[in-house]
Amino acid sequence: MSSLLLILNAGSSSLKFAVFDAAHDGPRARLSGQVEGIGTHPHLVLRNAGGAVLKERRWPDADGNVPRDQHDALGVVLEHLDDLIARTQVAGVGHRVVHGGATFAAPMHIDDALIEALARLEPLAPLHQPHNLDGIRAARAHFAGVPQVACFDTAFHRGHDFVHDTFALPRELLDAGVRRYGFHGLSYEYVADRMRTLAPAAAAGRMIVAHLGSGASMCAIRDGRSVSSTMGFTPLDGLPMGTRPGQLDPGVLLWLMRERGLDADALSDLLYRHSGLKGLSGISNDMRDLHTSTDPAAQRAIDYFVARLRREIGALSADLGGLDALVFTAGIGENDATVRSGAVRGLAFLGLAIDASANATHGATRGGRISPDGAPVAVYVVPTNEELMIARHTHRMVGCGGTR
Ligand code: ADP
Repeated sequence: MSSLLLILNAGSSSLKFAVFDAAHDGPRARLSGQVEGIGTHPHLVLRNAGGAVLKERRWPDADGNVPRDQHDALGVVLEHLDDLIARTQVAGVGHRVVHGGATFAAPMHIDDALIEALARLEPLAPLHQPHNLDGIRAARAHFAGVPQVACFDTAFHRGHDFVHDTFALPRELLDAGVRRYGFHGLSYEYVADRMRTLAPAAAAGRMIVAHLGSGASMCAIRDGRSVSSTMGFTPLDGLPMGTRPGQLDPGVLLWLMRERGLDADALSDLLYRHSGLKGLSGISNDMRDLHTSTDPAAQRAIDYFVARLRREIGALSADLGGLDALVFTAGIGENDATVRSGAVRGLAFLGLAIDASANATHGATRGGRISPDGAPVAVYVVPTNEELMIARHTHRMVGCGGTR
C-alpha cells in the first residue's frame, strides 16, 4: 500500500486540500478540493487528479449541521476522503503558512514551540496566519503522531540583499523585525522551477514573476533566487489587490488617524478588506466582474491595476539590471489576456512584447509562451501549483513514509 501526503491550505473562510502519492521519484497528485464558505454556507468539492468532480456537498444539511471552523471543515474533508483513501496511509501533512518571519527560511517540522513562534507573527498577516494555525491545530488533532510540516510564503525571499530587505527607518526597528519579508514564495518557487523546463536559459537569467490573484505581488528572480519583491512587511504593500491598496503613502494613514479618528482596527479593516479593486471601483474585488461592468469606475480600477503592474515591471527590471523573462501566474495572471497585454504596453524599450493570438489562448498551444518568436524577453503564462510545491517540501522532510 502506498503512503500519502495530505496538503492543507487553510484560509479565512476556506480549507483547500490535496492528496499526493508519496512516490519515490516525487509526489504525484491524486485528489484535491476545498471547503469554501466556512462559517456561512459551506460547500465541499472533491476532485480526482484529472479535475473531475468526485464528491460535492453543501450545508446546512437536513439536520441543520454546519461545519463552523477549520477543525469541523477538516473533519468533513476526512469523512469524504475515507471512501477513497485509508487515513492510516497518510505519512505526512504539509501546511501552507503565510508568515515565517525573519527566522524561518526553509520548511520546518511542526511542534508546539513552532506553533507558538508562528502565533507571535499573527499581527503581521491577520487575514491569513491565524487561519493557517487553526488548520495546523486541527490536523494535529486528527492525525496525532503523523509528521507535519510548515511551508512558508516568506521563506523564498529570505536571501535578499540589505537594500531589498529593509525600510529607511531607524536601525532598531529592522532589528525588531520591521523589514520587507515578501510573500507568495511557494508560488514563485514553483514557477521558477517550472521555467527551468519551459525556458532553461531565461530561468537561469533574470526573470520577473507576476502572481496576480486575490492577493497580488511580483518577484524579481535571478537564477532561481528571489532578489526583490513588491510585497513588504505585510501582504499589503506593492501592487493593488482585490481588497488591499498596495503601495500607499504612509502619510495617508496619519491623516486618517488624525482627521478621521480611525484606530488600528479600523485602519486594518480599510486596508485589508475595503480597498484595492473593490474600494476603487465600488463594485467588486473580482476582476471578472470589473470586465463585465459598464460602470466607468470599473474600467478606472482596471487601469490603475495595470498601470501599477507596468511601474513595478520597470522597478524590478532595474533591480535585475535587465530582463530575460516575464511570467504571469495565479487567477488573473493565468486567465486575463487584457491585463497581460496592458501590463507590457509601452514597455517595448525593455524588450517586452506579446503575441495577440498566443495571448488570447493563454499560450496554451505554445507551452505557455505568449511573446512573439525571437522577442528579446520571453513572456509566459504558467499556472501556479502551490500545493505541489508544499507536497515536494513535505515529501523531502518526511520521506516516502512507507506503510505505517
Ligand atoms: P487566491 O488563491 O489568491 O484567492 P486566485 O489565484 O484564485 O486567488 O485568483 C482569484 C482572482 O482571479 C479572482 O478574484 C478573479 O479576480 C481572478 N480571475 C479568475 N478567473 C479570471 C478570469 N477568467 N479573468 C479575469 N480574472 C480572473
